[in-house]
Amino acid sequence: MSTQPIVMSGIRSTGFLHLGNYFGAIRNYVRMQDEFECYFMVADLHTLTTHPDTAQLKHNVHRVLAENIACGLDPDKVALYCQSHIRETSELYLYLNMLAYKGELEKTTTFKDKVRLQPENVNAGLLTYPVLQAADILLHRASLVPVGKDQEQHLEMARNFANRFNHRYGPIFPEPMAFNYGTELVKVPALDGSGKMSKSENQHATLYLADSDEDIRKKIKKMKTDGGPTEPGTPKPDYIQSIFLLMQLVSPSEAIQKFEEDYNNCSIRYGDMKERLAQDMIRFIAPIREKVNQIMADETYLSNIMEKGAQKARKSAQATMEMVRKAMGLVYYP
Ligand code: ADP
Repeated sequence: MSTQPIVMSGIRSTGFLHLGNYFGAIRNYVRMQDEFECYFMVADLHTLTTHPDTAQLKHNVHRVLAENIACGLDPDKVALYCQSHIRETSELYLYLNMLAYKGELEKTTTFKDKVRLQPENVNAGLLTYPVLQAADILLHRASLVPVGKDQEQHLEMARNFANRFNHRYGPIFPEPMAFNYGTELVKVPALDGSGKMSKSENQHATLYLADSDEDIRKKIKKMKTDGGPTEPGTPKPDYIQSIFLLMQLVSPSEAIQKFEEDYNNCSIRYGDMKERLAQDMIRFIAPIREKVNQIMADETYLSNIMEKGAQKARKSAQATMEMVRKAMGLVYYP
C-alpha cells in the first residue's frame, strides 16, 4: 500500500468551469498529481441537489472531465472518476448521516444560501450536502483536500464527522485538511464585486474557461471603475481590488507593478488596465478552450478514462468500507 498522503477533491457538473474552479482547485490538482496519491471526481450526485433535471447531465460530466484534462490533469497519474460510479460512497454517506446533526447542517452557510436561491426545492440532499462531501473524502481516507476558500466550512464538518466516527467506532479516518500551495485558500471574486465567481449563479460576472475571446474582453470592459484616487495612499475600493486580484492570476509581475505605481501616484488609467487584463486573460483561457473542444469530440476516449478512474477509486473505496463495516460491528458472519 502507498505511504504517500492521499488527496481527494471534486467539482460539480453544474456547468462550465470558471476561473475560480481553476485557481481554487484545478491548479492545485495539477501540481499535486506528481507528489501524492490523488483521487479527483466529477460530483454528479451533488449536482442533483440543485439540478434535478438530468437531460444535460452526461454532457456536463463529459465537459468537466475534458476541462480537467485540458488544464493538465493526467488520467494515468490520478484516479479521475465520476462520483455515481462508486456505490460505496452512498453507503458511507448513510452511516455518516447518523453522526451528523440537523442543527449543525441547518447552520451551514452554503445551505442557507441555497435555501435563499431555490426556496421551492429545499430537499434533504441539500441539507446533507456536507455529509456526502465528507463521505467522498473519507472513502479514500484522504488527508489533503485541495479546495477554494468557499469550502472551508464543509471541510471543518468533514473533520467533525471523521472524529465522531473514530471516537465511537475506532480510529479509521485521518482528519482531512483543506490544502493550497500558497499560504491562504483562494477566492476568485465575481467581476461585479458581488461574491465569488460561480458555475451556476452570477454567470455574467464569471469568466468561464469556455468563453470566447470577445466575451472575455466584453466582460472585463464592463467591470466597474471610478475616476481613480486623487490622493496617494488611498485604500483601493473592493471593485478596484478585484481588477488587481485578477491581474495577479494571469498577468506578469511587471505589468501589475506598473499599475500599482500608477495607482499610488494617482495617474492610473483604468481603461488601459482593463485592456491589459483582457489580453492576458485571453492568452490564458484560449488554449484551454481549444483543447477542451478537441477532447469533447472523442466520447470513446472520455468513457475509457471514466472506467479506468472508477476501477482505481473502487479499489480504495472497497478497502475502506471493509474496515468501516468491521469497526461498526456490521459484519455478522464469521
Ligand atoms: P461552483 O461553486 O462554481 O459550482 P463547485 O462547488 O463545483 O463550484 O466547486 C469546485 C471547486 O472550485 C471547489 O474546490 C471550490 O472551492 C472551487 N471554487 C469554486 N468557486 C470558486 C471561486 N470563486 N474562487 C476559488 N475557488 C472556487
